[in-house]
Amino acid sequence: MASDFVCPECGARFSTEMAMREHEMSMHPKAAMKAGDFDCKVCGQRFHSEAELKEHMAKAHHK
Ligand SMILES: [Zn+2]
Ligand SMILES: [Zn+2]
Repeated sequence: MASDFVCPECGARFSTEMAMREHEMSMHPKAAMKAGDFDCKVCGQRFHSEAELKEHMAKAHHK
């Protein structure tokens, strides 16, 4: 489902971005901190740079 948010660290799924972020902050605080700069507005995945995010958008969401 397009509304699913998947934890990039362990693959756990959440119905809201908020729930996924709370999970990340409690379960993978280090990963959540270092990868929190750029996040995809469509699926919630996070990237270290704008270039990575743009590449993801082009590949995963075709925009
Ligand atoms: Zn996780
Ligand atoms: Zn995405």
